[in-house]
Amino acid sequence: MNIKNSSSHKKAEPESSVLYIVGTPIGNLNDLSARAINILKNVSLIACEDTRQTKKIMSKFKFTNNLISFNKHNSLNRIPRIINDLNIGKSIALVSDAGMPSICDPGEDLIKDARSDGINIICIPGPCAALTALVASGLPSSKFTFEGFLPKKKSEREKILLEINKDEKTTILYESPHRLKRLLNELKDFFGGAREIYVFRELTKKFEEHIGDNIDDVINHFEGKEVLGEITVVVKGVNKKITNSEFDENELRRELHNLINAGLNLSEASKYLAKKNNITKRLIYNMYKKHKELN
Ligand code: SAM
Repeated sequence: MNIKNSSSHKKAEPESSVLYIVGTPIGNLNDLSARAINILKNVSLIACEDTRQTKKIMSKFKFTNNLISFNKHNSLNRIPRIINDLNIGKSIALVSDAGMPSICDPGEDLIKDARSDGINIICIPGPCAALTALVASGLPSSKFTFEGFLPKKKSEREKILLEINKDEKTTILYESPHRLKRLLNELKDFFGGAREIYVFRELTKKFEEHIGDNIDDVINHFEGKEVLGEITVVVKGVNKKITNSEFDENELRRELHNLINAGLNLSEASKYLAKKNNITKRLIYNMYKKHKELN
């Protein structure tokens, strides 16, 4: 096993021959960490997606540094040069226009190649739209699925929508503003309008907006409006279908008995309990029937 960087955080940063992957703000420049500023100020070179975006950061925090562009069009050509610079002792920071490099942004190939070349890599964590939206949604967040941008090709897109429709975990999607309405209509077609979702617009910025909390409401919200700004969508996972062996039959029988004693008929009581426990009415009827037969 090859364990690197184990003591690097104890040394002064930035160190020579280290590739720093630096998270930058997704809107609010005050979200740039003090550690990130120090790295960006003092590395030999910053590889950035768009030099104009990185200059905004340098101007806000009043420093300058050497920049080279590193984007989806030139990244494959730039990688050998960056790795060479690292090998001769330079320290290099990789940033994207916003958020964490490599999350739907350039970086993955450089990091992979640098790692296989034995270069030390240190990640300075920063904001990420996906995680910011997930946490703000209040939906289950310990396990989740991140899909990024859905593919444009219809068949590939539908395949993923079908997968999301079976996924019990919360799903996070990125979408461009001019495609949001199309996405919302597709979500409605595949999941139904009642599915819980939140659309996050302009996170961390002045006009931040959270729109929910189901697909129909979000579609209504945007009806007749032009969608502007940056968008992240968070979709609730499907409810786990509980099987016969997974619920407490005694407890359910007791509740059914109490509801019927309180005046509900079997159908009403079963409907209520099915909804409450996320099980089918049929399961409750069967349980009732089985119990009656035993008595
Ligand atoms: N690397 C970035 C990250 O860590 O979040 C993501 C880059 S990806 C090219 C850009 C997409 O992220 C946008 O189209 C949008 O879906 C989402 N995004 C970025 N900033 C956002 C913001 N402030 N509010 C909502 N979504 C945002």
